[in-house]
Amino acid sequence: MLSNKVSNIQPSTTLAITATAQKLKDEGIDVIGLGAGQPDFNTPDFIIEGAINAIHNGQTKYTPSGGILSLKEAIVNKTNQDLNLNYNTSNVFVGTGAKHVLYNIFMSILNEGDEVIVPVPYWVSYPEQIKLAGGTPVFVKTDEETNFKLTTSQLEQHINDNTKAIIINTPSNPTGMIYSKEELLALDDLIKQHDLIVISDEIYETLIYNGKHVSYATLNEDAKDRTFIVNGVSKSHAMTGWRIGYGIGPVDYIKGMTNLASHSTSNPTTPSQYAALTAYTEQPEYIQKMNEIFKKRLDEVYPLVDEITGFKCIKPNGAFYLYPNVKEAMNLCGYNSSSDFAQALLEEAHVAVIPGSAFGSDDNIRLSYATDVESFKTAIERIKHFINSKK
Ligand code: PLP
Repeated sequence: MLSNKVSNIQPSTTLAITATAQKLKDEGIDVIGLGAGQPDFNTPDFIIEGAINAIHNGQTKYTPSGGILSLKEAIVNKTNQDLNLNYNTSNVFVGTGAKHVLYNIFMSILNEGDEVIVPVPYWVSYPEQIKLAGGTPVFVKTDEETNFKLTTSQLEQHINDNTKAIIINTPSNPTGMIYSKEELLALDDLIKQHDLIVISDEIYETLIYNGKHVSYATLNEDAKDRTFIVNGVSKSHAMTGWRIGYGIGPVDYIKGMTNLASHSTSNPTTPSQYAALTAYTEQPEYIQKMNEIFKKRLDEVYPLVDEITGFKCIKPNGAFYLYPNVKEAMNLCGYNSSSDFAQALLEEAHVAVIPGSAFGSDDNIRLSYATDVESFKTAIERIKHFINSKK
């Protein structure tokens, strides 16, 4: 019998859809995958070289649990410079991907019954990780009216004495929206009043096409002291498989997270840490190049999605997803849920998308443009044809 802990969690829908799409592909069916949550580029050569050199130099052994000092220094330098803050290496924990960092944060801050505010739509792993750590996710629905951003009154209705923390994901997966300084400041009063921990997931920080990234930690000294910044190389440097992410936060919690890692993962993979060190210390222009490619794609594919019958899409400002509201299209075609709609798109139109239900909002689907534009355009034609044939 599976433990209660594990039987209580849902499998990751994004990974499941990607696996089904791959299975259909393996059977020879020409499926276009718009489900991917990762850049479609290879990791750049200079980073691969960095890792290979490290392996040849014997960097293949255990390292300190929270990461090698030189990588922590590079992370501190980057963060202090970009955000104009004054962290030091004792504020940094390096883990096996941002996902693992988030898990260690929840494990280190939550006791049984503690509640965490999770704005909807949310990244798939937050609720399950919170539950695993003994906490309770408290979902706060946002929608297109506020560009999927949490407002003070929405937050106020869900805070109580058990509320321990809040997640702010900017730029957001799945919506691509970014919070402005004013919007974060509006939430800050309540957050302070209730003494909440802020988990600021900034993994798409470098992928912004309109506006600028604001980290909650930069609002004021008090905000910095209550914030964990979560980030990593997966999205910024096309390094999802290397599994390196980091958390920056209050020293005592970072010590706890490091202690936990020392008994679970030991350390993030050693050559990958050197690859990440190379990413943060060499060829900074790479980030800009990636950003320009994604911005160009967004400008090209966004209008195509917005004009599909029954789709309404807000133009995102960051990340690499479009999150159209497809309620009208589902009604036209006779589907009651985003998962049925996504399933039919996969099986009949051979286009893999992620149903909004995976992110807590059943009126939407997520399309990733981390794919070549020609394939994306073909996928749009298939979706249009599918809708026309059903309505
Ligand atoms: N946070 C968000 C919002 C994400 O979209 C992802 C990956 O999809 C992660 C965290 C985890 O990233 P990593 O590959 O570093 O574990």
